[in-house]
Amino acid sequence: MSQYRCCSEQEWEPVADLGHTAGVDFDLGRCKNCGTYLMAVFYVSSITYNVLSDQQAKRFLRMQGSDTLKKALKRWLDS
Ligand SMILES: [Zn+2]
Repeated sequence: MSQYRCCSEQEWEPVADLGHTAGVDFDLGRCKNCGTYLMAVFYVSSITYNVLSDQQAKRFLRMQGSDTLKKALKRWLDS
């Protein structure tokens, strides 16, 4: 299931597993077709794909493995 699409030929390519916070799992990927960064959000049994800006994706990547990342992901989710 895809909620937000970057293009009509959206195809998932994993980039980084950003772990989980507040019962939600985050996987960062890109679209193989157009190169747009995507965030897969796993919650219970549903997955949603969200389009991210390059800037936002790179910010998350820089914060990988830190507590700051969890806070940032939570903020992003609530926004
Ligand atoms: Zn695409």
